[in-house]
Amino acid sequence: MTYQELKAEENKYVMNTYGRFPIALDHGEGATLWDIEGKKYIDLASGIGVNCMGYNNPAIVDAITNQAHKLTHVSNLFTTEPMVQVAKKLVEKTHLNGKVFFANSGAEANEGAIKLARKYSFDKYGEGRYKIVTLVNSFHGRTVTTLKATGQDRFHNYFFPFTEGFDYAAANDFDSVRHKADEMTCAVMMELVQGEGGVLPLEKEFVQQVEAFCRERDILLIIDEVQTGIGRTGSLFCFQQYGIRPDVVTMAKGLGGGVPIGAVLAAESCSNVLTPGTHATTFGGTPLVCAAANAVLDTVGDGQFLAQVKEKGEYLKNGILSIGSPNILGVRGMGLMLGIIVEDGKHAAYANKLIEKGVLALTAGKNAVRLLPPLTISKEEMDEALTIMKEVF
Ligand SMILES: *Cc1c(COP(=O)(O)O)cnc(C)c1O
Repeated sequence: MTYQELKAEENKYVMNTYGRFPIALDHGEGATLWDIEGKKYIDLASGIGVNCMGYNNPAIVDAITNQAHKLTHVSNLFTTEPMVQVAKKLVEKTHLNGKVFFANSGAEANEGAIKLARKYSFDKYGEGRYKIVTLVNSFHGRTVTTLKATGQDRFHNYFFPFTEGFDYAAANDFDSVRHKADEMTCAVMMELVQGEGGVLPLEKEFVQQVEAFCRERDILLIIDEVQTGIGRTGSLFCFQQYGIRPDVVTMAKGLGGGVPIGAVLAAESCSNVLTPGTHATTFGGTPLVCAAANAVLDTVGDGQFLAQVKEKGEYLKNGILSIGSPNILGVRGMGLMLGIIVEDGKHAAYANKLIEKGVLALTAGKNAVRLLPPLTISKEEMDEALTIMKEVF
């Protein structure tokens, strides 16, 4: 089938909810992809930060294949070894004395965290302490509740009434957080590098001030690591570079290396809040996806691998800056989560041009061409991408 034929069928049978780029992908190897017509691309998008181990990675393929021969799903009415192993790895590598709840996506992980925070407060203080403060320009998901948790007005449309109890503080403005968080507040939730919002890292001092404030008021600090987690910024979780101890960490995207899995990690302070009957999901923690997550954590959780992510991030960033194009106004981000800053509103045109020339890239905010390559990307692949970027910028 040609792209045009496939697209015609897509338009007929699939809901028109995405402005997709005009290519249909077929297969990949490492950080390189081929479309159905045989054209090659260097992937600096990794399925929006999901395919952290690249394509056709033997560790992931074997883990999924072997598990598929044994069991793919059992429900949460039974215990399975892959699920317990993933939880154990996450707990041991984060040093929060935590416990894990498994979900299936980032939005669901955040829903779980929101429920956890409200119940934590309800159990301790009774009704009324339900408010959650998030940051302006944040992104937390697409369910009715997580849309409202998202601090961008354009998401608060059509689907009324939204879940009550969210308010938005300005990023890197501690006074704003202090004013928004009142005696009704049970949690502050934030991304440490705002991803969809434009690849904007928060300032360390601000984050530490918020942490101290939360401790003082018994407000839970929820860190949304759906995009920043699983090695993306050069540490297993981004919070580890901010010198803080969150109460709740949510994750998804990279955790399964390409299969859908999300998780809520609750620190000792609140790891026993969710109890039988208060939260559940049919698919959560199913052995197939947990087998993949175990393979991801065994690789990405390694200190040497994480050091390489930082080095690759520096290499790519410096390579982009050394193009020396006046159209590149800067590069921001951490590790392999980078935003190339261009003139406001021009980011989509650049992303389209890059894709046309053979580099998959994303956009974020109002002026960032966002790069989230597979963490396993090779130097050769980065060089190939840089050559094309030079031409485009
Ligand atoms: C992608 C993302 C989400 C939503 O995850 P889904 O899997 O699409 O539901 C939530 N928070 C952040 C920070 C994200 O980047």
